[in-house]
Amino acid sequence: MVALLLGPDPRGNVECVVEWARDITEQKRAEQKLKALATTDSLTGLWNRRYFWVKVAQEIKRALRYGEIFSLLIFDIDDFKSINDTHGHAAGDTVLKHLAMIMKASFRHADFSGRLGGEEFGILLPDTGIDDAIVLAERLRLAIEKKPAVYKGTRIVFTASIGVAGYHQGIDRVDQLFFESDKALYRAKNGGKNRVQKTAPD
Ligand code: GH3
Ligand code: MG
Ligand code: MG
Repeated sequence: MVALLLGPDPRGNVECVVEWARDITEQKRAEQKLKALATTDSLTGLWNRRYFWVKVAQEIKRALRYGEIFSLLIFDIDDFKSINDTHGHAAGDTVLKHLAMIMKASFRHADFSGRLGGEEFGILLPDTGIDDAIVLAERLRLAIEKKPAVYKGTRIVFTASIGVAGYHQGIDRVDQLFFESDKALYRAKNGGKNRVQKTAPD
């Protein structure tokens, strides 16, 4: 585009300008690529663990400064090892990608979906109290249960257990909130899997 707008001057400077413009564009593209690599999970396209933590940290700051509320869901696919064992690792990868699609379709743009590692995922829900978060988590659990992944023509039904934690006073570090939703997830697994749990009151 720039090249079309600029005619060559007698000294042939145009080429130089165009090259420079192209350099900038390529540099921008390279920077964007690097940023995407640093923040995104390559298999699912969701935010990676590191970036998800950054986002939760930002949300904690907002909560401390402005008194805003938010909630955190952490969930883990049930018996994922047996999915891999039965259908193969590539089928397992398809299930992970399929789950990411369900997450993207189920949540608002403002919500943050991340892959925390292996078959564990997180969703950050700004402006959402724990009661609403539980409703959303239950909706997500149902969507997962109802929408099997398909790998090479085979339907793979799978489920997930979800732990929910709401931000509350006394939390000023990311690991504290993760600890609470992890505890809730553990309760969901122990309670028989394919269910939503919040942290038990102490
Ligand atoms: P639970 O119901 O208690 O969560 O059991 P589980 O079988 O889901 O959990 P476990 O931790 O025993 O197994 C997780 C498996 O996930 C083991 C690992 O090989 C597999 N896994 C981790 N990352 C990937 C991946 O990127 N792709 C695939 N296909 N498998 C993965
Ligand atoms: Mg796991
Ligand atoms: Mg699991």
